[in-house]
This record gives sequence, structure tokens and C-alpha cells, in this order.
Amino acid sequence: MLVPMIRHSVSYHRIGERQFRPWVVLRGVLAEVSQARQAHVASRRIVAALFLGLLLALSLAMPGWAQSRPASPVTPASLVVTNAKIMTMDSRYPRAEAIAVSGEWVIAIGTVADIEPYIGPQTKVLDVGGRLVLPGFNDSHTHFLSGSRTLRELYLYGVNRLEEVLRLVGERVAKAKPGEWITGSGYDHTLWGTKWPTKEDLDRVAPNNPVVLRRVSGHSVWVNSLALKLSGITNDTPDPAGGEIQKYPKTGEPTGILLETAAGLIKVDRPRLSPEETRQLMKDDLSAGFRHAAKLGVTSVQTSSSLEELAVVRELKAEGKLTLRWNGWLPLRAASELVAQGIRSGHGDYWVRFGFLKGYIDGTVGDRTAAMFEPFADRPGFTGLPRLTQEELSEAVAFADRNGFQVGIHAIGDRGIHMALNAFERAAIINGATNQRHRVEHAQLVAKYDIRRFGPLGVVASMQQVHCTTDLRYVEARVGYERAKTAYPWRSLLAAGVVLAFGTDWPVEPLDPMRGIFSSLTRMNIETREPKTGWFPEQKLTLWESIYYYTWGSAYGEHLESVKGVLVPGRLADMIVLDRDLFTSALEEILQAKVDYTIVGGQVVWDRAANRWGPENQ
Ligand SMILES: [Zn+2]
Repeated sequence: MLVPMIRHSVSYHRIGERQFRPWVVLRGVLAEVSQARQAHVASRRIVAALFLGLLLALSLAMPGWAQSRPASPVTPASLVVTNAKIMTMDSRYPRAEAIAVSGEWVIAIGTVADIEPYIGPQTKVLDVGGRLVLPGFNDSHTHFLSGSRTLRELYLYGVNRLEEVLRLVGERVAKAKPGEWITGSGYDHTLWGTKWPTKEDLDRVAPNNPVVLRRVSGHSVWVNSLALKLSGITNDTPDPAGGEIQKYPKTGEPTGILLETAAGLIKVDRPRLSPEETRQLMKDDLSAGFRHAAKLGVTSVQTSSSLEELAVVRELKAEGKLTLRWNGWLPLRAASELVAQGIRSGHGDYWVRFGFLKGYIDGTVGDRTAAMFEPFADRPGFTGLPRLTQEELSEAVAFADRNGFQVGIHAIGDRGIHMALNAFERAAIINGATNQRHRVEHAQLVAKYDIRRFGPLGVVASMQQVHCTTDLRYVEARVGYERAKTAYPWRSLLAAGVVLAFGTDWPVEPLDPMRGIFSSLTRMNIETREPKTGWFPEQKLTLWESIYYYTWGSAYGEHLESVKGVLVPGRLADMIVLDRDLFTSALEEILQAKVDYTIVGGQVVWDRAANRWGPENQ
């Protein structure tokens, strides 16, 4: 692909050593000389000068020579990964064969011979037999706790028949007590038709249990009659601001679909748990999520969070169960409260930290709730559901910016994205440049003239490649060909100097980074493999780019590119070993790639062959 096999790529190690090693070698030789010939100072000087000349000549003529014969002891590494094909993701030194780690940090990288001296008696050596090593993936947009919960709830992702969804719901109902809530997520009705499903569909399989299923986007729910009844939603319930209770036009009766804020009207009555039980459940769920992430090679996540959750994650760290780096975001509306508590973006350490404040301006394309300038092509007169006015948004962003917060705005429609950029621009005018690296989360239907606005404002585009390939089935139907041309415009954004930060929006999409890589390489739907040449193929990315913005780009989006995202000395030792070489694999194989080892902070936290998850010292 992009990366040539550059022999000098391994000279990263050598460059650091070159200024230093001839002197070290020289010093050793002089000592030998002085032992052998103690008599004549003058002749000793001559010999030394000759040796010096010879050594200099040798080291210039044979740059590799000194490396294989280190004369000075180096700090022994705690971990050495060797016999590997390392893609460092640093374009200056893209490839290496071995890497030395001390504690949490990479200390050296180079050829197998370069790194050999770092192997001491205590060093753990991982000979990976020529396999591919990459920096760990950093998912820049997840709802990690919700995702972790889907690991035990009904998860309907990719189920492409209504009857199958109902069968799975029925299966849960059969195991539940009467009256017990059935909750699930991930359903996508566009996989089996164009019409929304209804409460009557669910009533057929769940007459005596309330059911609430979150749509794959997370922006609407589908419920049955009992769930509506228990939540007190009737024909007379008005739409809440920023939401819609779908009703049958003739009878005015709710259909069972609740959009955006209306979803909040459903009051799920969960079994009552004590605060300790709730906390324990959260810990169990999160741990299941950490294992899931480690298995997929995800070593950092940026996620929706709360102060309580951040405290729980810190506890898990203290208990030795945290196997990824956790960067939680908090709601934009919490800004003044956080100011009062003295909490700002970046609060925490490299394991658990508070990143940015997240606000919402609109919904999604799938639900037709994204804020658009012009009406949806398949819903005349309707331009989506903006949640805030420009004034409200700009004011909230300017306040946060002034007080030292990074801000990420969920914006999907062209008008929503325009409003987010306006707010960032306003903040820069009022407060001066603060270098907060504000972010647009999703940035899907970007208006052509707005593509150029991100760069000068220093705004990061936090995007999920899989959203493109999942949505491409209906985007043109929703917004028409012209507007679809600049949808998910990765290539155009890069060309305009924008940093992309990749992720999945888990559980909206599965957490597996390989699906994202496949998506940005092909712009082809993963399930149907359509369209064959890719959807607006001019926006495709290379493999290097697809990985780079999933490691370095995501780290940049959280202000941490100086400590992780590429594998060079001085960065955190977060890396993965894959079972195949993505750079020589057929496209199809990328989706099948498995992670053999996941290493976080120099610790092997996932070992596929042993099916072992967890920090090594546990
Ligand atoms: Zn999200």
C-alpha cells in the first residue's frame, strides 16, 4: 500500500545512537589499550588516534556495525516484542522489526539486532513470528457503558427480518416473568422495509411484558402497547420539545415509535437495586466491555460518561481490571457545575480522564431528525429536529471554551454541522483562539462550503466510517444525489487539512475496528458488498490512512498525540499483534482479521491463543 519497505526506516534507533555510540565504543578500546601497553604515553596516543580514525571510518562506512556490537549496557526492557512487522504509523520511520518497552513506555524500536541488547534476564520476550504489529486502536466515539450492557441485553444489530426480531423478543419474553421489562437495542427497520414498525407488531409476541427497543441509531425507540400504557402515553400526550410521538393520522393513537427526546417519556421500571448493587452491576458490565475491547484490539476509548462513572472506572483501575485507557465526556449543560468543582478538560491521568463536553444539535439521517437546510427528499417540508437555536448553542459553546473545556457537538445534518461550526467560530471571535480542538461528532452530511471551515477553526472531525457504509443504503433516498456527494467526505476533509478521529459510536455499530477500516477502504456496505465500486469512491481512504486516523488521529482528538497513537520511543506501549498482515491481505480478509495479542501500557491484556484477558500481574 502506501508504505514502502524502506530500509532506513529501522534507522530511527540508529539515529539516536549514532551521535553517541562511537564514543562509547572508543572508550572501551582505549581502556584495553592502556592495559596492554602501560609504558609509553606517546605511542599510546598514536595507537588511540589510529583506533579512533579506524573506528570513525568503520562507523561511517558500515552504519549497521555498531548496533550489533553494543559496548555499553542499556536499560533492560520489561517487554520486548520481536521478529515482527511493526507499522509504527510514524511516516518518518514507518517500519521496524522489534520494540523494547520499559514499564508503560516504548524505549527503543529498530531491527531485531538493534533491540536484542535490551533483553535482560527479567525481560518478557514476545517473538511474534513475523506478524503485523500496530499501535492499539483508539475509538474516539463510544457509549461504552451502553455498549457493555448490550453484551447481556437483547442485541438486534444486523437482524434483517421483522419476523426474526419478533422471534428473538418472544424468546426473551418466554424467559421473563409477566410484567418484567424487556429491553434491547440495535434494531434497524430499514433492513427489512421502508415503513416504521408498530406497537402492534410487538404486542403479538409480548402481550404481558412491556418492551422497549432502541433503534440502532440510539435516537428513537420502538415500544409495545403495555410500555406506552405504563409510561402514561396516550392520544393526548403532546410532543416534547425536540421530539415526536408518532401517531396514526386517522385515530391519533401512538404508533409505538418515539423519536429523539420523546424516547425519554418511556419510564422503564428496572428491578430495584441498592446503590451498592447498582455499582457492582456497572462494574461487571464495564469489565465485560473491557474484555470485549481487548479482544478487538481497542486500547483507548473516548466515551459518554458521568462523574460517577469516572469514579467507578478509577476504582476498576485500582482493582487491576482496567485494560484500556478511558476518556469520558460529560454533558455540555454541566459546564458551570464543573467550573465550580474546578474540573476542566484533561482532568485525570493517561488511564482515566475527563475529555470534553458533549452537546447535541440534531438527530440522525436514518430517523430523518438530522437538521437540514432543505427538506428531506423523502419527507417533503420536513427539515429535521434541531435541539437548540443557534443562539443557545453559541452561548453554551463560548462559555465552555472560555472556561477551558474542549467541546464536541453531535451534528449530522448540513444545517446542524453549519450551526456547530458557527458556534466554534463565535467562540474564537469572542475568546480568541484557545486551541481547545473542538470537535464535530459524526459530521455526516457536510455542506460543500463548510468542508473548508473546519481546518482554520482547528476543529476535529470525529467520524465513524461504518456509519457511512451502513447508511449508504438510504442516504440518497433521504437527501438526494447532490447532497449525498459531500456525505461522509473523508478525502475532502483531509485535503482541507482537517484531522479525522475515527471510531464506531458503539453500540450503534459494533466495536470492531476492522469494520471501520474495511468501510473507509471500500465505501461498500459490509453485508451486501454494494455498490461494487464504492459509494462516491473518490472519498475512499488508503489502508495507512484508515489506521492512522484510528490511532494517531483519535489521540489528536483528545490532545494526547504526544503520548500515544504511534509506536516510537517515548510513547505509551499500547499495541496489538494481528493474525494476518492487513497490508498484503485481500480486502475480504481484513474483516476476518483477529487480534492475537493486545498490549496496553506494556502489559499483555489479551492473549487469543490462551483465551486470556486481564492485566498480567492479576
Ligand atoms: Zn454517539
